[in-house]
Amino acid sequence: MTAETGRWIRNFVAGQFVEPDENRSFDKTDPATGRVFARVHEADRDLVDRAVSAARRALHDGWATTPVRERAALLRRAADRIEERFEEFVAAEVADTGKPVTQARELDVARALTNFRTFADVVAAAGQESFLTDLAGGRQALNYAVRKPLGVVAVVVPWNLPLLLLTWKVAPALACGNALVVKPSEETPATATLLADVLAEVGLPAGVYNVVHGFGDSAGEYVTSHPGIDGVTFTGSSATGSHVMKTVAPRVRPVSFELGGKNAAVVFDDVDIDEALAGLTRSVFTNTGQVCLCTERVYVQRSVFADVAEGLAERARSLRLGDPLDERTTTGPLISRTHRNKVLNYFELAEQAGAKVLTGGGVPQLGPGLAGGSWIEPTLWTGLTNADRPVREEIFGPVAALIPFDTEAEAIALANDTEYGLAASVWTNDLRRGHRVAQSMNVGMAWVNTWFLRDLRSPFGGVGLSGIGREGGESSLHFYTEPTNVCVQL
Ligand code: NAD
Repeated sequence: MTAETGRWIRNFVAGQFVEPDENRSFDKTDPATGRVFARVHEADRDLVDRAVSAARRALHDGWATTPVRERAALLRRAADRIEERFEEFVAAEVADTGKPVTQARELDVARALTNFRTFADVVAAAGQESFLTDLAGGRQALNYAVRKPLGVVAVVVPWNLPLLLLTWKVAPALACGNALVVKPSEETPATATLLADVLAEVGLPAGVYNVVHGFGDSAGEYVTSHPGIDGVTFTGSSATGSHVMKTVAPRVRPVSFELGGKNAAVVFDDVDIDEALAGLTRSVFTNTGQVCLCTERVYVQRSVFADVAEGLAERARSLRLGDPLDERTTTGPLISRTHRNKVLNYFELAEQAGAKVLTGGGVPQLGPGLAGGSWIEPTLWTGLTNADRPVREEIFGPVAALIPFDTEAEAIALANDTEYGLAASVWTNDLRRGHRVAQSMNVGMAWVNTWFLRDLRSPFGGVGLSGIGREGGESSLHFYTEPTNVCVQL
């Protein structure tokens, strides 16, 4: 490690941080500046084996049968401790991602606390299904399900909302008594590692939470294909999800997949335009468009198309790109140069397909300190159709295509014309239309006159290429447990 890289980000196995190995490590770069600020110890197969064994041991040593109230209390202590170390988590998340510090505070780290507190409540309130069955001759049988932990769960997460998405899985999985082997994204290893420290501080037994770092085709695949894993919960791209499914298939393990999206917004001409523009600005540009729920297709009723296009472009131009630690910054960089090249390739494809660029379309000049970062301009297009690749494929950047429609039926058909099915938003002041159109969206989550508003007890997930299964509230408890039904003849 050179003096410049400063520090190690280490693996955490069996309750201990593992001594790093210089020969098996990679640089961690700040996406805002391009500067290397840490080295990450990459887990090899042997370390993944040790993590899986430690998790199995922890289950057998009593974690799986810990009373629910103790597990719920531990989750609450974890939330309290994250709150005490709040700014450390914020700093780690900002350094890893380049996201604006205000967003890290208000969304990423705030949601981590809420994830732990919500699942402490959900698990404490959960009951068991039971049925009294009438039998011939007036007798009855009592059926009831006993829910047991799934076991050793592989948790594989992406880089866009690292701590938020990690704790969205870790909190319910721990609430249900599972032991975990976590593989964070190679782009964002820091907060999963800091969380290991917090969970140890609040008394989580050694081996229940393990972190192994590395790339998808090494550490990621060692974890998901490991014979000691009882289930995989994965958030990431649809292509990786499909691949992980194959690695899990030989052992027929349950999977929960939260995958990509190509989300539509449908804007009707009866809407309050300012309210819709404020919502669309959030839904297209939050986290530099790197949220699975972000809108990349905006269908607008023809009579308000020009107003919406102009209004949204004006708001896009007023976004403030810059130093993530400056509280006035609204928009950070993309996660990496590799990802920026992918997004820029879609910019080119859009122009080749005849797009008119309303705003953006390139790389901004942000001054010397940020010149090495992965910055990109917030971008809007008109002139494309659903046949064009930039309208069909997930881009995962601060960009959307605006497309006009005339009738409600046409809007529904256009929005549903996709292989993805994660989220949609409908913007209208007509109450009946709002419900009607939202219900007809072929997605896991549809919003009316809002976006990314979440009650964590409600189901979250997608259809088609966007995933398998739902998490959130009871849905999470169902995934992270296996029921044994007991039938007693009375
Ligand atoms: P990715 O699929 O490249 O990587 C996700 C994680 O999987 C990383 O930790 C990666 O190292 C690991 N991985 C990669 N290949 C693997 C393999 N062969 N075996 C095991 N693990 C492997 O995704 P990304 O680029 O990190 O994240 C962006 C994607 O995530 C987008 O498609 C986005 O829509 C999606 N996403 C979905 C949701 C959701 O809730 N539906 C939320 C956030 C992000």
